[in-house]
Amino acid sequence: MAGIYVHIPFCKQSCHYCDFHFSTSTRLKEPMLQAIAQELRMRKAYMGTVQVESIYLGGGTPSLLDTVELETLLVLITQHFSLSKTTEITLEANPDDITLTKLQALRAIGVNRLSIGIQAFQDSVLRYLNRAHDSKNALESVRIARKAGFDNLNIDLMYAIPGTSQAMWEANLSTALQLQPEHIAAYCLTIEKNTAFGRWHERGKLQAAKEDAAVRQFETLTATLAMHHYEHYEISNFCQPGYYAQHNTNYWKKGKYLGLGPGAHSYDGGTRQYNIAHNQRYIDSLNKGIVPCTMEVLTTKEHINEYLMTSLRTQWGCDMAWLQEKHGYALAHAKRPYLEHLIDLKLAVMHGQKLLLTRKGKLLVDQIAADLFVG
Ligand code: SF4
Repeated sequence: MAGIYVHIPFCKQSCHYCDFHFSTSTRLKEPMLQAIAQELRMRKAYMGTVQVESIYLGGGTPSLLDTVELETLLVLITQHFSLSKTTEITLEANPDDITLTKLQALRAIGVNRLSIGIQAFQDSVLRYLNRAHDSKNALESVRIARKAGFDNLNIDLMYAIPGTSQAMWEANLSTALQLQPEHIAAYCLTIEKNTAFGRWHERGKLQAAKEDAAVRQFETLTATLAMHHYEHYEISNFCQPGYYAQHNTNYWKKGKYLGLGPGAHSYDGGTRQYNIAHNQRYIDSLNKGIVPCTMEVLTTKEHINEYLMTSLRTQWGCDMAWLQEKHGYALAHAKRPYLEHLIDLKLAVMHGQKLLLTRKGKLLVDQIAADLFVG
């Protein structure tokens, strides 16, 4: 399995919690799209003969592009890479960009999955996050998506938002479930340094949600979605049977991917490339025929530790037989007392050669993975 990610680095406004790479000015939109097209042509060989099973248009806000711009991009991808009949083509969209005409046009050009950045359904919370949409837009966007024929929808939600209550989170989940999305991605809000929230936090003007409140909201999330038959297949990802997000699953399973656009990353099984996260420099470099990226050759230790970190977050767990065969790391032998301790505390279970975290263990995934790392 392999995927292509395209980063569209423009947003209408800056959400207070977001540290992704984006600009709120669309002045460079045209040259940016030309530069991305140039990068795409230059990196045609990156995928070799591998079939691309997922295309993900993310950002930033790709729904800011018009249909012609998105179609040009998708046509270029199909001309330069080998796609299958079932390739999942996802577009990240914000509710305020969604109209029936636009979504019908997107379906017609091949977009078959929509990921809508809803985050919350309360206007006061959306304003606090500095989102560009309101709750009416959020509800309407899903209705319009269904009307346009989208039958594979993700909605993004956020919990542990400072100043919000358990009751507000429960109300958000209840509204989300009424919409019956095939997929829900629910993220714990973290306060990042170079964001408005980060600056307010530093000045003592914002308190992060208390850890026990965040844990309670996560537990409510997992219990509620399980009751409604959603599979909890990765810490932050839930789906109705069979609706796994192909793109992220490819990341977690260490598949190959090509990332196009400023700030995008690529991975070919042995190395990782990081594109420069600066719009003007990215464009200038591509105009000179140079892909502005740095490359890192992953060591065996890095491969192992990355695999531990990602696999333990998923319902497929860490395949110890694969780890030994691929990287020569005998985890069961190297960490036996610690693994027994995890199992005694009901934080993990073994299924054959697979180590899986329990619901309780998932709350401690970062610490457990770090404890299993090769030093
Ligand atoms: S959260 Fe999304 S819409 Fe908001 S600033 Fe970040 S990338 Fe843009």
